[in-house]
Amino acid sequence: MAVSMAYLTASFIVAIVKFSLAVRTLPDRTVSFVFGLFAITIASAIGYGWLMGELYIENIINSTIVFISLAVFGLLIILKLLDIYVDKKFPSWRSKKYIEYISNEECYGGITFPLGMRALVLVGGSDPRIIEMIRIHEEYHAVNKHNLKQILFMYILFTLAAFLIKYNLQQTILFHLYFATMMVAFIVLMRVFEVSADAYMWRKLGPEAYERFKAFLKARYGVEEPWRAPWWSRLTHTSRRDITMTTGDPIGAHWELEFPLLFSLASATLLAFSLERSPLSSPLAVYAAPSALAGSLVVIFLLALALRPLVRRFVDSRFTDRGVFNLSALLSGFLFIASFSSIFFGPLTYPPMYAFTAYALRHYLASWRKALSLSGVGFAVLLAINALLFLLLSRA
Ligand SMILES: [Zn+2]
Repeated sequence: MAVSMAYLTASFIVAIVKFSLAVRTLPDRTVSFVFGLFAITIASAIGYGWLMGELYIENIINSTIVFISLAVFGLLIILKLLDIYVDKKFPSWRSKKYIEYISNEECYGGITFPLGMRALVLVGGSDPRIIEMIRIHEEYHAVNKHNLKQILFMYILFTLAAFLIKYNLQQTILFHLYFATMMVAFIVLMRVFEVSADAYMWRKLGPEAYERFKAFLKARYGVEEPWRAPWWSRLTHTSRRDITMTTGDPIGAHWELEFPLLFSLASATLLAFSLERSPLSSPLAVYAAPSALAGSLVVIFLLALALRPLVRRFVDSRFTDRGVFNLSALLSGFLFIASFSSIFFGPLTYPPMYAFTAYALRHYLASWRKALSLSGVGFAVLLAINALLFLLLSRA
């Protein structure tokens, strides 16, 4: 209860600050109003979902999966109802995949908001070449429903947090690790979306993309290179957008430790979860979790280095060395998590993890055949190592 109330209060303050800033900076007041309203709606939708989870799950539903499915279904219904309402109110928006609003003021920028299950795209600026570039970037977010995916992702994570609270685990290291994983996962997911929108811009504009982007940086922040942009822009969009926009590399802009860090946090959370259920319980988790975190980070990083030559055989000419390493790190992270979860949940975790890995790799390799084979080879290597360890341990 206390945690979700704290979240609700904090998110309301942030939303209201964002709202008032938007009103002051954007020239068009109507747009500013809509802007702030969405921020508040989303913050409260997630917060209330969470609060309801905390208050009612205990009394009504005991299965995590059933509860999350119902919660997601409920949220989708609310969003669909919003779509119907918007269509009634603005008949000209009906049958549009997303709604676009371009403001030709001296205020450069682009942002995509969720509007029901669709999106509202706001673009600002006076130079038509820059406006076109921003429009292409935002179009990718809108068509691929990045906002909706982000909201659903956060909604599921918050609902899971409600379950941890339900079992009175909010004071444990498991809860803190889970929260840290959630926050890092949210930022990584956002950066994945941004890098793929930049890669789409490169596909549409070619080398022009970076030229126009530099003109945008100059107009918006007064700088020439993406790594000199303000920290919030670098956090959400990566600081090496030049890699994506000059080569088309779909994964090279990410930080090299980004995927290893996310997957090692997730494995430390898994470890804490399994210890929490064992009779040894919390005290052990406090000591085990930090070492699991550091150990997993090193192992995933080394595995990524080792698998690099294999990954290189599957990528096309867009990939830079950094891109090959990042793709290898992503694959290694999945392999590590699959291996780690199989210790706790049995070998049945392998098939869904394999499917999920192939799905993620397909996003970068743009081919199901390549994605299935690369993940297949990865999982074969993993099973071979596991079998070897099993043999060695059973001899000892
Ligand atoms: Zn974007």
